[in-house]
Amino acid sequence: MDKLTIRDVDVAGKRVFVRVDFNVPLEDGKVTDDSRIRASIPTIHYLLTHGARVILASHLGRPDGKVQDGLRLRPVAERLSGLLGRNVPVTGDALGIGTVDAVKRLRNGELLLLENLRFHAEEEKNDPAFARQLAEYAEIYVNDAFGTAHRAHASTVGVAQLLPPYAGFLMEREIAMLSRLLEDPAHPFAAIVGGAKVSGKLKVLDSLLAKVDVLVLGGGMANTFLLGQGKSVGKSLAEHDMVEEARRVLAAADKAKVKVILPVDVVVAKEVTRGTEYKTIPAEKIPASWHIVDVGRATLDLMEESLAEARTVFWNGPLGVFEIPSFAHGTRALARFLAARADAGATIVVGGGDSVAAIQQQGLAERFTHISTGGGASLEFLEGRELPGVAVLQDRPDAKPAGKAGGKSRRKVAAKAGA
Ligand code: ADP
Ligand code: MG
Repeated sequence: MDKLTIRDVDVAGKRVFVRVDFNVPLEDGKVTDDSRIRASIPTIHYLLTHGARVILASHLGRPDGKVQDGLRLRPVAERLSGLLGRNVPVTGDALGIGTVDAVKRLRNGELLLLENLRFHAEEEKNDPAFARQLAEYAEIYVNDAFGTAHRAHASTVGVAQLLPPYAGFLMEREIAMLSRLLEDPAHPFAAIVGGAKVSGKLKVLDSLLAKVDVLVLGGGMANTFLLGQGKSVGKSLAEHDMVEEARRVLAAADKAKVKVILPVDVVVAKEVTRGTEYKTIPAEKIPASWHIVDVGRATLDLMEESLAEARTVFWNGPLGVFEIPSFAHGTRALARFLAARADAGATIVVGGGDSVAAIQQQGLAERFTHISTGGGASLEFLEGRELPGVAVLQDRPDAKPAGKAGGKSRRKVAAKAGA
C-alpha cells in the first residue's frame, strides 16, 4: 500500500492544502494534549523549508455545521505557533473573501490555518461545491490526518479528488506501521481489546482472529463475553443483544486455535463513581447489584503470562473505567508491562483515544513502537478495509503491479550487497 508522499513532488512556490488532524482535547481554552499537533510538525516543517505556501485545515470537535466559539482553532494555532517558533494566523472562517485574500497573500515558506472546517455542515457531507471552494486555494493536496481518514468528508476525499493528492509523513508512518501488523507481524502476535462496547469492535475482532495467536479481552466488552460463557455480570455494562455474537467469536477463536484470555477476577463497585465501595472478587460470582469496573490481579498475571512471549502486540481499549483512579490499576499496569516488553524488543502498537490517554498519563508513550493518532481509523484499517482518505491518495507507480516481483528482486539486490 505504498502511496506517493510529499517527497515525490516539488512543492517550491506551490500553494499546498494540508489536511491535518488538530482535533485535540481543550480545557478552559487551552490544549490539554498536543500529541496530534506535534505529530504533524515534520510534514509542516518539511513543506515550509521547501518553499511551499501552506494552508492547514482541520476539524475540532462536533460543532455540527454551526459556529461555536468554544471550538475555534485559536488555542490550537497558539500551541502550533509555540512548537514552530513562529506566528500561525487563523482565518475567521474556512471560506469567504477574507480567507481567499489571506491565501493569496501567502508567500513561499509561509502558512496559515483555516478556521474549523466543521463550522460548515458541507464538510461532513462531502459537498462538491464546498470541496471545490477549498480546492481553489491550492495546487497540491496533502493528507496528514490519519485520525480522520476513515471518514469520506470534503477535506479528506472531496478536495483530494480535485488536486494531485499526496500523503504527509504522519500518514505515511501510520500506514506503514499498521500495514506491518496485517501483512508481516512477527509471531507470536497478540491483540488486546478492551474498552466499552463489543458492537463497535466486532469486525476488528473477526479480522484479528485470522492473524493473532493470542486474544486478550478486557474492559466493558469482556462482560458480554462473560455472559456468553453463562456467567452473570450484575449491573455491569454489557450488551445483551451481542451475547450470541460473543459466543460466535469464542467458537471461531477455538477453531482458529487462538488462545483467548478473559477476566478470571474483577474489581466490582457499588456505583461507577469516585469514592464508592469496591472490592476484588472472582469473575464467577458477580453480585446482582454491583458493577465490574476493572480486572483483578489474577487476571493481570494471566494476561502478562500469555503476553510474555509475544513479539508483536496490538492494544486497543482500556481494561477498566480508568478515568476513575481506583479503577485504573489494570489499565495502568498493562501499559507499564507493555512498555517493558517494547524495551525488550517486541513490537507494541497502540490505537484508540482512551488507551493512548492511559499510556500518556504515565509518561510511557516514547517507549512504545507506535502510538496511532487514530482510534476509529486504526481499527477500521486493521479490519482490512481501505480507508476512504487513504484510498484517494496516489499509489506509488512501482508499488502494486510489481509487488511480488519487485519484492523478490529487492531481496536479491540485498543478498548481493551482503555477499
Ligand atoms: P479507545 O478509545 O481506547 O478505543 P473505547 O472508547 O472503546 O477505548 O473505550 C473506553 C471506555 O471504556 C472508557 O471510557 C472506559 O471507562 C470504558 N470502560 C472500560 N471498562 C469498562 C467497564 N468495565 N465498565 C464500563 N466502562 C468501561
Ligand atoms: Mg474512546
